[in-house]
Amino acid sequence: MLKVAKFGGSSMADARQFQKVKAIIEADKSRRVIVVSAAGKRFSDDHKLTDLLYLCYAHKKYGVSCDSVFGMIADRYRGICAELGLGLDIEAELCALREEIDSGISQDKLVSRGEYFSARLMADYLGYDFLDSELWLRFNFDGSIDRAQSYELLERLAGGRRVVIPGFYGAMPDGSIRVLTRGGSDVTGALCAAALDADVYENWTDVSGILMADPRIVDNPDTIERITYNELRELSYMGAQVLHEGTVFPVREKNIPLNIRNTNKPEHPGTLIMESFSDELFGERFITGIAGRRNFSIVNIAKTGMSSEVGSLRKILEVFEKHNICVEYTPSGIDSVSVVVSADKAKQALFSVVGEIQKAISPDSVQITEGISVIAAVGRRMAFKPGSSGRIFAALGANGINIRMISQGPEELNIIVGVNDADFEKTVQVLYDSFVK
Ligand code: ASP
Repeated sequence: MLKVAKFGGSSMADARQFQKVKAIIEADKSRRVIVVSAAGKRFSDDHKLTDLLYLCYAHKKYGVSCDSVFGMIADRYRGICAELGLGLDIEAELCALREEIDSGISQDKLVSRGEYFSARLMADYLGYDFLDSELWLRFNFDGSIDRAQSYELLERLAGGRRVVIPGFYGAMPDGSIRVLTRGGSDVTGALCAAALDADVYENWTDVSGILMADPRIVDNPDTIERITYNELRELSYMGAQVLHEGTVFPVREKNIPLNIRNTNKPEHPGTLIMESFSDELFGERFITGIAGRRNFSIVNIAKTGMSSEVGSLRKILEVFEKHNICVEYTPSGIDSVSVVVSADKAKQALFSVVGEIQKAISPDSVQITEGISVIAAVGRRMAFKPGSSGRIFAALGANGINIRMISQGPEELNIIVGVNDADFEKTVQVLYDSFVK
């Protein structure tokens, strides 16, 4: 049994968090491959190490002394080292980095040092080997990850060992360091899990998994216990912030379960993400999660006889394509079709779009409705529960929410409603209260 465990910035923030991480790892001997982020915030107006490293580079670049920023960085790691009584010669490491900064370090190399120090210290603390990501995570020249080579190298270097691996960076074909996009340690962990065919990829953070609704809207929402990759994709697309977007692909491809856990509440099982669950229970909630986005526009095009006219939908959609506007949904009636687009992206071009649609299909009318929010109730069990959509619409109606648009994908994984922006929060709350509470 092999578990790859990735610990995020908040789990690496100080010596106390290091102690929690160690206790978690020691509680399960199969946690043999550990991936770490740079130290994150210890309190709300603290700084993330990675941000300080970017700032340090900016100071250097514009010829401003970086002494004080470098001092803040060095003190964070000195503190952890001293409090945990580690044997690592942190002063020598910091001194070498300072010299490299003065002689012209690259930005990517400098900002990657947050993860590098975290991993060095954690390896020392756990008694695991440090395995540098520059030795295995390989980028192609175009910046994409060379997965075949990276997997092969990691298997060779980490196979059967207990290692701590720094997240967020790897090496270009010429050996220079390159970082992933922000939050990229999630991706490093997923690559490790895939390369080593782990039984599970644990992503340890400071929340007990994915919440069923946005906590800024719903007070203390429940955690999602189990969610499929498809449902997760729906929720993330609708604005739920969960993991770095590159995380899912490597583990999903190998059918490795992904478990989001809380370092501060290790007894909580967190959220388990899998391709499917074979042991579904009846009588469970039919909604897995609720998420939504504001500020959409609906372009409603009506024309008598439209449904029997060949090519009218194509002509309408071509106009949006020409203006590079992504079409989100197209609910339709017999003589009308609505095209739902994100207002931010369409704002500039919407009047031209209307003019061109008029030219293309000579409709009876074209109307634009602005200020629409789109909310999705996502749930794999909906497909098996007759009446799910009816119950959702009834609950919204009973609470005086006017539904402006309805859409459901053929796989019945979600029900999407469009409401006025002013009803956005109330809609999320009503859905939660009616179907989750
Ligand atoms: N330290 C990096 C960041 O702050 C990467 C990570 O934590 O995942 O973006």
